[in-house]
Amino acid sequence: MMRAVFLDRDGVISENLADHVKSWEEFRFIPGALDALRWLHQAGFRTFVVTNQAIVNRGVVSAQVVEDIHARMLAQVVQHGGFIDDICYCPHDYHENCECRKPQPGMLTQLAARWRIDLARSYMVGDAWTDVAAGRAASCRTVMVRTGRGAEQVNLLEAQQHPAHHIAANLIEAAEWILYQEGTVPTLHERNGSLARVAGAPWYAALSLGG
Ligand SMILES: [Mg+2]
Ligand SMILES: [Zn+2]
Repeated sequence: MMRAVFLDRDGVISENLADHVKSWEEFRFIPGALDALRWLHQAGFRTFVVTNQAIVNRGVVSAQVVEDIHARMLAQVVQHGGFIDDICYCPHDYHENCECRKPQPGMLTQLAARWRIDLARSYMVGDAWTDVAAGRAASCRTVMVRTGRGAEQVNLLEAQQHPAHHIAANLIEAAEWILYQEGTVPTLHERNGSLARVAGAPWYAALSLGG
């Protein structure tokens, strides 16, 4: 069974907009997110996006638009040497009481069944307590990032009730932590144009950063 990293979209991979991302023109990658996705892919993880998009059932955007955004997002990720194995979104609003809207773990458990994923050896990265709660409910290790809504979310009571296993500045640092947990995988990162060794990592080795 394979390991996976489940990723929230808005606030983790792309900039979170108060008024929602309603078209590809409004979609902006958060700096470093494409690199992080490449590292996770190169390290042998399945990578999945699990995103609440209630704006679909609220009639703000069509499912087709959401899927178009995802196709274009994936094309950029691939162009950057990364991959997203599957993308799952919940179109439901709060009151529909579905099993997929985070904090419910439905999207993670569905993907895990479809792709034969070992959830206990997998990770969930999000910028909201609901992402962490969904990850925990699916028995994944969880990382909260401070990008997007994360800086505010970490202080919420709900975030204390559903504490993340790790809090990271952004997806790059989340990926570094995840790779570090795995122990066997080198984590190099490129900062100010130079490669830096992650402090304390005993298993430094060359990982292709091309692409
Ligand atoms: Mg988010
Ligand atoms: Zn749903």
